Amino acid sequence: MSFRYVKPAGEAVFKDSLTTKMEDRIVPYRQGKGAEAGIIGLPLSKSSISPSTASEAPAAIRKAFRSLTTYASGKGDYAGTILDFGDVLMHPTDIDENIARLKESIRDMLKQEACHRYIILGGDHGISYPSIAAFQEKYGTIGVLQWDAHHDLRNLEDGGRTNGTPFRSLLEAGILKGEHLVQIGIRDYCNAGAYAEYGEEKGVHVYTMEEVERQGITTILQKEIARLKTVTDAVYLSVDMDVVDQAFAPGCPAAGPGGITSRELISSIAAAAADPSVKAMDLVENDPSKDIRDMTSRLAAYAMMTFLHAK
Ligand code: CA
Repeated sequence: MSFRYVKPAGEAVFKDSLTTKMEDRIVPYRQGKGAEAGIIGLPLSKSSISPSTASEAPAAIRKAFRSLTTYASGKGDYAGTILDFGDVLMHPTDIDENIARLKESIRDMLKQEACHRYIILGGDHGISYPSIAAFQEKYGTIGVLQWDAHHDLRNLEDGGRTNGTPFRSLLEAGILKGEHLVQIGIRDYCNAGAYAEYGEEKGVHVYTMEEVERQGITTILQKEIARLKTVTDAVYLSVDMDVVDQAFAPGCPAAGPGGITSRELISSIAAAAADPSVKAMDLVENDPSKDIRDMTSRLAAYAMMTFLHAK
């Protein structure tokens, strides 16, 4: 007996690929497995200067990611498998302990050599320090493309290790050279002159929003990646969602006006990810408790797909 609107158990409602969802492509990591890409969650936001629950972002982004279809025009269906390494367990209060755990976890993940590329879900921007340090240990000289409204070059003396210090920590530890760090989308009236001067002294390549507007973000990305790939062993993308204007990414603790559009974020990630020298991307500073209708998490999920499905 059959019913017109009742789906027989175990049968798909639709047979075409329109309904293939990303959740079908994500499998939990098990030792010995290999795949095109891996995801890991680094749920740390206790180190944020502004109050933040960006620690909730890995779950929110995974949820948004799973509901996407696999199809993109001109590319077809995404056919790769994504290994999910899970989330790193955080100590409730000890930031130094957590930074050590994050580095150790990324190091362990990379040691498996299970994936060609990795997506790291923050967390606040503090997670990029241990993450990039672990990638540098694995790959050698690292180039970093940082999408950000802020320099994140604060000194440690004025407030300890925070989400404002990761890139200064990397430069001062000798893990990253100034000329191998590219900051894109830096905005006015939310940075201090001392950090801009510090970046200049260290040779950091800085593109303010004014420069982004003048040159075009994709042109900047293509030029910088062509340079970085000749002088580094691997390139790491660090995407602070607050580079995007608050109109498109309201869930960032330091959201503000005058940023890039969601479309500019997508096209610039596509331009960078098309190069095989790019091994990883982190997505940080998305606080689901501040978000509106999951706008920021959905944009982060779209950015992940763009990274994974690059031509
Ligand atoms: Ca930042």
